[in-house]
Amino acid sequence: MKTKAKLRKADSSYLDCYDSHTITLLQGISGESNNRDLEFDLHKTIAIQRANIKHLVVQEMMDSDEMKDLLIDKFRIPKHITCDVCGLPLRFCTYFFDMEDHPILFVFECLKGHLPRVLVDADGRRYDMPAQKCSDCGFDMTVSLEGLNDELTISHECHSCDKKIEDTVKADWTDFSQIKEEDRKEYCYSFAGQNLFFLSLFRLAEDLSQMGVEHVSG
Ligand SMILES: [Zn+2]
Ligand SMILES: [Zn+2]
Repeated sequence: MKTKAKLRKADSSYLDCYDSHTITLLQGISGESNNRDLEFDLHKTIAIQRANIKHLVVQEMMDSDEMKDLLIDKFRIPKHITCDVCGLPLRFCTYFFDMEDHPILFVFECLKGHLPRVLVDADGRRYDMPAQKCSDCGFDMTVSLEGLNDELTISHECHSCDKKIEDTVKADWTDFSQIKEEDRKEYCYSFAGQNLFFLSLFRLAEDLSQMGVEHVSG
C-alpha cells in the first residue's frame, strides 16, 4: 500500500530553508549603497535579528506542517464532486490550508480542464473564496486558483476594468542542498548569540530599573 507523503520534512530541511533565505537577503544588501557604514549596520542588524529568531521561526514552520499532516489524516477527501460545465467527476488535486474559518480545504479540477478549479470543505460543501471588490472601480472581482502542489496562485480579476491581482501562496520548497557551507558560516553562524547594541542597552536599562536606579534627565 502506498503511504501518503508527509508534509513534515526532516528538521534539516527547515534549517536549510531559513539559512538560504538569510544568505540571499544579506547578499542582496552587500555593495548596494555608497554609504558603507550604513550598509554595514544594516547588514549586521538583519543578520543578528535573523539569527536570534531562527529557532522560533523554524519551530513554527515545523509545527505548521505537523498540524497540516494531522488535518490530512483526520479528514477524508470528499467524494462525488462534479464539474459544473460537463458534469463529470472532478479529480482531487491538492489541499489548501490557509483560510481562517476552514483549517483544511480540498482543491478539485476537471479532467477536461474546465475552470475554475473547485474548493470543497471537509463536509463536501463547495467553498467560495470571499468576494473582493475592485479597488479601482468597486466592481466584484472573480477569484480563480491556478497552479498546484507547492505553488498555488490565487488571482482576483475585475471584469469591469480588467484589473488583476495575483497572490501566490506557499511557493517556497525549492531544493536547498546547494547552500555553500562557507556562506552559511559567514551569514548565519557568525551572528548567532550576538546582541544588537540597542537590545543590549534596553536590557541594561531594564536591569537598572529593577535595581531601583532611575534615569535622571536634565
Ligand atoms: Zn468539466
Ligand atoms: Zn475594476
